[in-house]
Amino acid sequence: MKLIYQFNEGNKDMKDILGGKGANLAEMTSLGLNVPPGFTISTTACRKYLEDNVLWLELKETVLSNLRLLELKTEKSFLGNRNLQPLLLSVRSGAPNSMPGMMDTILNLGLNDTSVKLMADFTSNERFAYDSYRRFIEMFSNVVAEIPRIEFEKQLESVKIEKNYNSDSDLTISDLKLLIEKYKKIYFDFEKTEFPEDPTRQLFLAVEAVFRSWNNPRAITYRNLHKISHDIGTAVNIQSMVFGNMGKTSGTGVLFSRNPINGNDELFGEYLMNAQGEDVVAGIRTPLEISELNKEFPNIYKELFDTSKKLELYFKDIQDIEFTIENGKLYFLQVRNAKRTPLAAVNSACEFVSEGLIDKKEAIKRISSKDIENLLHPVFDDAYLKKSKVVGKGLAASPGAASGKVYFSPADVTIAKNKGEKVILVREETSPEDIEGMLYSEGILTSKGGMTSHAAVVARGIGKCCITGCEDIAFNKDEKYIVINDVVIKEGDFISIDGSTGNIYLGEIPKVKLDTNENFKILLKWLDEFRKIGVRANADTPNDAMHANQFNTDGIGLCRTEHMFFNKIRIPIVRSMILANYEDERKEYLDELLKFQREDFVEIFKLMDNKPVTVRLLDPPLHEFLPKTDVEIKNLAASMGLTMNDMLYRIENLKESNPMLGHRGCRLAITFPEIYKMQARAIIEAAVISKENGININPEIMIPLVCDKKELKFIKNHLVDEINKVFKEKSNSVEYHIGTMIEIPRAALLADEIAEEADFFSYGTNDLTQMTFGFSRDDSNKFLFDYMNHDVFSTNPFSTLDKKGVGKLIEMSAQLGRTTNKNIKLGICGEQAGDPEALELYSKLGITYLSCSPFRIPLVKLALAKLAI
Ligand code: ADP
Ligand code: MG
Ligand code: MG
Repeated sequence: MKLIYQFNEGNKDMKDILGGKGANLAEMTSLGLNVPPGFTISTTACRKYLEDNVLWLELKETVLSNLRLLELKTEKSFLGNRNLQPLLLSVRSGAPNSMPGMMDTILNLGLNDTSVKLMADFTSNERFAYDSYRRFIEMFSNVVAEIPRIEFEKQLESVKIEKNYNSDSDLTISDLKLLIEKYKKIYFDFEKTEFPEDPTRQLFLAVEAVFRSWNNPRAITYRNLHKISHDIGTAVNIQSMVFGNMGKTSGTGVLFSRNPINGNDELFGEYLMNAQGEDVVAGIRTPLEISELNKEFPNIYKELFDTSKKLELYFKDIQDIEFTIENGKLYFLQVRNAKRTPLAAVNSACEFVSEGLIDKKEAIKRISSKDIENLLHPVFDDAYLKKSKVVGKGLAASPGAASGKVYFSPADVTIAKNKGEKVILVREETSPEDIEGMLYSEGILTSKGGMTSHAAVVARGIGKCCITGCEDIAFNKDEKYIVINDVVIKEGDFISIDGSTGNIYLGEIPKVKLDTNENFKILLKWLDEFRKIGVRANADTPNDAMHANQFNTDGIGLCRTEHMFFNKIRIPIVRSMILANYEDERKEYLDELLKFQREDFVEIFKLMDNKPVTVRLLDPPLHEFLPKTDVEIKNLAASMGLTMNDMLYRIENLKESNPMLGHRGCRLAITFPEIYKMQARAIIEAAVISKENGININPEIMIPLVCDKKELKFIKNHLVDEINKVFKEKSNSVEYHIGTMIEIPRAALLADEIAEEADFFSYGTNDLTQMTFGFSRDDSNKFLFDYMNHDVFSTNPFSTLDKKGVGKLIEMSAQLGRTTNKNIKLGICGEQAGDPEALELYSKLGITYLSCSPFRIPLVKLALAKLAI
């Protein structure tokens, strides 16, 4: 078992043994960069220490023999030799996975009352020597004895106040000496023993502290959060010090080989002269921009520039580099792949491909779904977000960030919007009628409903930020205010909501909009090159279709016709149609609706030339369309020539106690075939009109909620009849297909029979999940939370496809369907179409296409491309 590696013995691929920092220090050393020499204690040693809790003899001896090598290399002395300059060390933790800020570094180790004097003599810089000693005592006490840094800073501050100093650099040598005594006393008071003078003892205590820090609560939480194993352990890097605090020609800084905010090919970074270690980030003095260095020390700047480019070329990614300048000489202390914004991720990945550094596959791998999500939605400015207080939290239902004045009804939203206000719609839940208010608002917040509630689905569809299920909201509708966790928010008050975290804030928070740029479009094309499954859009309006085209949709997989019914002119006609008592009466209203639907389809088809469009016939229970307020009911009665009583009676008649399992979907068409006939006519007439205009559309007509072959057959006969009539009237025809949704378990069980009548299946995973579990989509949010709390379920089946149960139904029915209809097309159109974890199943089953809301297309494409490469 090799416990220790000198920097020149390792390389970048040994992260498991040497940790990320150690492996890259080794790599930089063999690349010939100026890295202060040192060695790395392996993670293997750490694991053994964590078992036994002692530094064993062999490890200690190996440390000492490696130290001797280091003394020879540096021509300095760690243990104390009056004729040599003292060798000071930095002790740096470094786990295989980067765990930023988890474990602290100790600098200047080896200093004591004797060596500090030697150091002063050798460097002829007494101030520097004592400044380093002071820093060492503070860091050592903090890391090894866990004494809060504030104890030391209080002492420092009081000296500065007493002497009226502005900055640490005003401290005189005698101030520093005094501080050192005070610091040692703090150590003694906490530890009841003297500050250790013996450098070897200092070193072993420091190594133990780094090992132990693997299990400090912060580190454990971080690993839990990032799903990192707790058994790995950390490496310890022991390195000779170089000093950025030696005077005017010394300094320290951080450098990025490209701008990590936008990916621009320019050096980006900060530095401070006469400073050490964390001074740059600690905010004690304001650091200078790296470009300033070019003016002060052009040679050093050039060396930095050249090396950063060399490292970037070598590691094939943006590099984050730590450096120190000692008396005009440049040293490299750390290099790693830089953390970057989503914009920089996309830009740099694309540029690296065009520079030939990486190939398209590698570029795709580097982009995360979070990157794309953030790119498509504006996000709150981090700086302001940190200062804002979270007043409540709900489900992160649709990503993005929005600020606006609170209004509680779609009508009030519309009024406010017309006055030019920015609005957040806050409601218990939303219904199809609220669509206008939703469109007008910046974001939507509901107290009820889950990830697939109406508000959530619609918000994702229209790309609005949305938080659902914030159960802490109490409504006072009469006086128009809400209370969230004791905070009162009145109508017209500003709030901000973050649909990516579910957090609700008071007031307005500035946003940054990351535009989809040329590189994003290039990336999209690459995704299309690699993915193997089609990606279509759920698009109900020409506007949706336009958005979908922005992301190169393969077509429309779900066009929900009922969404075309909700607007001021159409809804009264829809209502009259529903409430009509006789077929003749109903037909009159249907004829009017036909015009509207045909118009819509013509518009949508125009945008989808040569692409498949699947239109779903009317699906929701009829009562969802009914008038609710007294005024609405009265007006409707008047226009239909009915008495109020008659009207109320008809409305009452349509009430259902369990509407989701009631008179909806194809069941409506068993009772009223004329409704579906009208819709089929609208679709086909629109397709013929499109054809006459040179646009090629072969519509796919989809029947929802089928549970039996005979249901489908009955409806299909009606549709085919009507379609043939259209062909005859127009003396023209188009190719079309009729298929069905599989969303009732019985349909999945009898898929072989159903496939005899269907050209395609489309899995509506929302309803299929609802009916397979028997969990109401609209109510399950309440109890599913407890399921997850008690670990009964690990995920919500409405957001992550239940592969075991629902997945089995999909798999079984796909196979059954193929036994009777070999070439049946299979699509997925529910919320879980985009579930990255289900993609493998979909591709195994030979699903033809996935259909998702327009704004999710790039995300689904990314996941599919990653699956294929
Ligand atoms: P972190 O993992 O928090 O970045 P590091 O181990 O990189 O911690 O150390 C933090 C800082 O300490 C470095 O950026 C560098 O400025 C300073 N430092 C570390 N090792 C040395 C060294 N051998 N000589 C001089 N400064 C060092
Ligand atoms: Mg570092
Ligand atoms: Mg459905």
